[in-house]
Amino acid sequence: MEAAQVVNSNGNADGDYQYEIISWFDSVSKNAAMVQTETLGQILHLNYGVEYLKKWFGDMKIQDMDACALESLYASLVPLASHADFEPFIQRIADGDTAPILTQQTITTLSLSSGTTEGRQKLLPFTRHSSQTTLQIYRLAAAYRSRVYPIREDGRILEFIYSSKRLKTKGGLTAGTATTHYYASEEFNIKQEKTKSFTCSPQEVIFGGDYKQSTYCHLLLGLLFWDEVELIASTFAYSIVQAFASFEEQWEEICSDIKDGTLSSRITLPRMRKAVLDIISPNPCLASQIEAICRDSKASNWYGIVPRLWPNAKYVYSIMTGSMQPYLKKLRHYAVSLPLVSADYGSTEGWIGVNLDPCLPPEDVTFSVIPTFSYFEFIPLYKKKQDLTSSTVGYIEDEPVPLSQVKLGQEYELVLTTFTGLYRYRLGDVVEVAGFHNGTPKLNFIFRRELILTVNIDKNTENDLQLAVGRGSEVLSKYGGELVDFTSHAEVMHQPGHYMIYWEIKGEVEERVLGECCGVMDASFVDHGYVVSRRTNSIGPLELCIVETGTFNKVLDYFIGNGAALGQFKTPRCTNNHILLRILNLCTIKRFHSTAYN
Ligand code: AMP
Repeated sequence: MEAAQVVNSNGNADGDYQYEIISWFDSVSKNAAMVQTETLGQILHLNYGVEYLKKWFGDMKIQDMDACALESLYASLVPLASHADFEPFIQRIADGDTAPILTQQTITTLSLSSGTTEGRQKLLPFTRHSSQTTLQIYRLAAAYRSRVYPIREDGRILEFIYSSKRLKTKGGLTAGTATTHYYASEEFNIKQEKTKSFTCSPQEVIFGGDYKQSTYCHLLLGLLFWDEVELIASTFAYSIVQAFASFEEQWEEICSDIKDGTLSSRITLPRMRKAVLDIISPNPCLASQIEAICRDSKASNWYGIVPRLWPNAKYVYSIMTGSMQPYLKKLRHYAVSLPLVSADYGSTEGWIGVNLDPCLPPEDVTFSVIPTFSYFEFIPLYKKKQDLTSSTVGYIEDEPVPLSQVKLGQEYELVLTTFTGLYRYRLGDVVEVAGFHNGTPKLNFIFRRELILTVNIDKNTENDLQLAVGRGSEVLSKYGGELVDFTSHAEVMHQPGHYMIYWEIKGEVEERVLGECCGVMDASFVDHGYVVSRRTNSIGPLELCIVETGTFNKVLDYFIGNGAALGQFKTPRCTNNHILLRILNLCTIKRFHSTAYN
């Protein structure tokens, strides 16, 4: 029942394999409760005696214990923990301590979380199991997708994927993003071989290390293989929107390269240049067809460009939920008739759930928990009475329950115990049980739990901000404007403190309209603490700062310069980072103050 067994068990990408993986998942999901108990047993037996567990189990002999008894003992002895609790242990591993600290297996690789949500990259253990589960969830999801949207064997995927730089820690361990490790792993090649779908770009493009050059080559090669492209994909939807924003600027240059079989001088990385030049050859006929489509599409603001350039593509595939939701509108604009399939739910800490209903719109997608990947616990969250009007925060927590005891409609914070050495680790994500697939829950991703905007007694999360910005941007689009990206900051240096929201927009809109957007956003924060503080002026009027075009590219460049990878990038929705705030404030061209509470 373990992930690796299925991964290695069959060679072909045909119906047999798909049948096999789907029936494997049916079986583990039917017996989810038992599989979870066994999974915990496996994790604890594999890592028996490691320093972290010894702290709680002492010299207790768990090997002879019955799996159910071990499950209850585990929950009673090992405390819930956060990343901060694991940090000193992970740091020792990074510094070269090879003692069995978290796992019995020596950890040689560490992953960096995107860190764009919390503003700080976290180090986490990465093992072979991590790549194997990535391959496993990819193939499982692909099997379900192919039932609804079958794709041609030997087709290609236009994948906007990017690796980050891999660094060496003080102790000589390799550190990079989890996706970077995966692209470099044997499993990534196995995935291509077994699913008989190949990415358009060679490794030199994915591993180039300069996202602008990689994006140019991804687009160029995607167009060269236009008739073979069966789907367009990325890890997070942001990368696709970002790639097409570049395409709007660079299409003429790309066409000229296709026409002459040359490569723009903007590609300066020698290995990337060579790899791409080895693939391309002059194709004036294709270039003029693409040019004609682009000229026409440009006039309609690139509406529906994706299916026009890739008429054989069956769908667009990427994470479109959570903090990616603000990019859905733009993605729909580019993709129009092409279905948008929202990808699976995971984190650097571990994979969580798979989307088994690919035909559902991204807004309705749920993730079925894979009970062999980790041991999952769920902290029930109940809204506090006075916060019933608030969309999110002010929760009372109950005791964590195992997967088998979750209830439909209940919200929970997820807790993971992983094969990579995290024990009762609070992920910080809030999910809702939206249904069941056999015995395993189907989760709705709600939001990340931490507060991002708070001045005094107010509490607003990323989701609250997203809702408020969504309302404001509805007003903007009514008047022909488009919100490109946004972030925020709680300004507390001057009294009274207030929220600042930074918007990059496209299109000409009157100042009156932007003033209205500002007021609408202020009135949309319904958190009780915020409303009371605004009424008494202990929080000042919300300030909307319009930044010049290209500002969020500067924000992206700042993060990439600090080791983030485009593929895992999420625009920070709130920041206290001085450098980032300097960029944002220098680029602010207009400011508006809300009159919503005047
Ligand atoms: P990272 O820290 O870079 O590994 O990002 C992991 C976080 O991204 C998760 O904890 C979630 O908050 C978010 N995330 C990942 N997958 C999804 C998804 N399918 N839908 C919504 N949010 C997601």
